[in-house]
Amino acid sequence: MTAWFTVTARALQPVSIGKTNAKAYLTRTEPLITGATLRGALAAWWLRRKDQDATFRELFDGEVRFGPLIRDDCLLENLSVTACKYHQGDRHPRYFDRAFHTGAQPVCGGLPEPLKGRIIARTGSSADLTMNTSTAINPSTGTALDAALYSRESNAKGAMFTGSIVGDASLVAELPTTERLTFGGRAGVQGAAEVTITVRPSPTVPDGRAVVRSLSPIILVDDAGRPSLDLKSALARHGVLAERVFAGRVTTEGAGGWHAASGLPKPTDLAVARGSVAVLTGDRVAVTKLLDHGVGIRRAEGFGFLELVESAWAVDTAVTPKHQSAAGGLDQWQAKLRKVALNAEQTRWLANQLREVGEGQHAEVNERLKRPGVPATLTESQRQAAENILVNGPQQHRTALARDLERGL
Ligand SMILES: [Zn+2]
Repeated sequence: MTAWFTVTARALQPVSIGKTNAKAYLTRTEPLITGATLRGALAAWWLRRKDQDATFRELFDGEVRFGPLIRDDCLLENLSVTACKYHQGDRHPRYFDRAFHTGAQPVCGGLPEPLKGRIIARTGSSADLTMNTSTAINPSTGTALDAALYSRESNAKGAMFTGSIVGDASLVAELPTTERLTFGGRAGVQGAAEVTITVRPSPTVPDGRAVVRSLSPIILVDDAGRPSLDLKSALARHGVLAERVFAGRVTTEGAGGWHAASGLPKPTDLAVARGSVAVLTGDRVAVTKLLDHGVGIRRAEGFGFLELVESAWAVDTAVTPKHQSAAGGLDQWQAKLRKVALNAEQTRWLANQLREVGEGQHAEVNERLKRPGVPATLTESQRQAAENILVNGPQQHRTALARDLERGL
């Protein structure tokens, strides 16, 4: 009997699930715990207590699916949605979801811009991630190695993540209901989270038309086992007719992995990007089965995880961040600036950097912080504060923050 379970994770430490294309000195992350990471953490929990027996193999290498956990203050962009690129005022909504609306999208100019399947803040701005930089230590001298700065993006302590496990009810019942697990990162200082698993009702598929989207990349193969990007045909093999699909993006992101049993990396598969949307017609039973099963291969790791979409995609303009948000409003960044005691020269320097460097340009910020002159006069805590502001300060506030600095706040 297939059952649906809600999984929540509360970060007890910063959580950082490294992306596979990371550069050596910089580990990027997302507001997400991937299904593969969830499965790995639960498998590790099991192996600390019990043997790698038949139940273990059924749970972790069978039909049980471990879906991605998305941070509660964030949402996944649906590929069925386009945005008014130069949107101003409120003559029309900014977003237009083609899975729900027909006709042409009204725009303020330019062409509508498709969303890309990113995970963004519910408010529509970039998700808030913090950046921690550390130096490599020379093991023989115990001192910092030159030019060996490592930066790691992470989700702040306290962040909440939610997702699903789908599978045989009695098998999933073998998993803990509440447990401290470690996700990615460096055990000991990063990645600890309190995880709860609770049963919930299965999705109720409406009669007639149903819209589904993928929360994770979909790895497809055709009847001959060859790689495929044809979602419509894959759905047809489940007895489901897709009236329209919005699945035009291809990704290799996150589709690699680590094969624990052999200790070898898995090949990176080509995948249909997460956020793909299909408008389905016909049989409710077939759609329910599709949701229970997922689509494509490597489903146990969370690939091809589908969910019902009940309404047109929208950002939440009324939302207030549940957790202290570093990406928050201008006032929060002004407060941060006030806490950094800088002299006049350092203040001018920081204002200029805010104007010259864009949000998220970690490598550029690190390079500038190593230059001679003003950066060399910063104390360690000033340097860290400057780095945080320069890397994470929201683009839309940078000019205002630079002006504040010059006015002496
Ligand atoms: Zn507009």
